[in-house]
Amino acid sequence: MRAARWYGAGDIRVEDAAEPEIKSETDALVRPTAAAICGTDLHVFKGELTSVPGAIMGHEFMGVVEKVGPAVRKFREGDRVIVSCWVADGECWYCRHQLYTQCFNINIFGMGPVYGESLDGAFAELVRVPYADTVLIKAPEDVSDEKLVTVSDSLPTGFEAVVNGGMREGDVVVVIGCGPIGLLSGMCAELLGASQVIAVDVVRERLEAAKNLGFKTIDGSVSDVADEVRSMTDGVGADFVVEAVGRTREPLLKAIEVARRKGTVSVVGFHLHEYTIPSGQLWLTEKKLVFSIGDPIKNGEKLIRFIRSGRLDPSRIITHKLSLDEVPHGFELFTKKQALKVLVKL
Ligand SMILES: [Zn+2]
Repeated sequence: MRAARWYGAGDIRVEDAAEPEIKSETDALVRPTAAAICGTDLHVFKGELTSVPGAIMGHEFMGVVEKVGPAVRKFREGDRVIVSCWVADGECWYCRHQLYTQCFNINIFGMGPVYGESLDGAFAELVRVPYADTVLIKAPEDVSDEKLVTVSDSLPTGFEAVVNGGMREGDVVVVIGCGPIGLLSGMCAELLGASQVIAVDVVRERLEAAKNLGFKTIDGSVSDVADEVRSMTDGVGADFVVEAVGRTREPLLKAIEVARRKGTVSVVGFHLHEYTIPSGQLWLTEKKLVFSIGDPIKNGEKLIRFIRSGRLDPSRIITHKLSLDEVPHGFELFTKKQALKVLVKL
């Protein structure tokens, strides 16, 4: 089969790979119909996370079940499914409490050996899915791949930022970072009753995308974000701030600065490094700092209902549709921030 494989920083090749097989009786094989490039993939692409040479990339995807192991109960050949980017066993203490992202056997597709076993990912013609009864989500036949594919990862991530952070109806919400996660967080905040969403970025195209979704915007390259937010909120600051940039300390500090006293900073940006934070100031101002990871297994079905009823349309952030052979090009575009969400049609 054809697959997009990782060989080092900036080096992804589309070439032949062996087809996966059922290894455990709870496995399924899924033939992807759509996948998307996620911001987290970029950490592998840039070499910030080391994968295994030859590993197949991609973790945000959906498709059709090709084959199931003998212990799979809920799915059968031909079922249309969304695949949770997180693999969880469905049995441990965390899974029994629906806290799947902290499963004792947590893993993720296409990211290399971050959690032990390296699981081959979505940019391929066939993918092995462990713990299929937990990891697969039934996809309705009457909704397009474009609308459903982000239920695999980025949409539940944006949703969790808002829900786990405890956003309340009427909150003024600031989103730091207008990449896919930031924009989806803003859409979820609106869906759940934010009085306004103010989106912050420094890239013109991304601010434009935020504006097109109906958000107010602040260009961080030309104005002081905290001053701007205060001037938009009678000098108070934001009730709820989503930090959707990650990687470094600066966006986190900015988010803390922008939140009002007793407000909440909800962090969904991908953070690998340790930083010092202004703990004294956080205590004095009683700001809450909450970290969240998206949970497709827990929230997938709920999000599908929002999409199906027309209340949420995550396909609005898709800017490019490419083929499997064009995956390396998609990574280039996304790295240069020339693309927002790249969909790969398989
Ligand atoms: Zn578990």
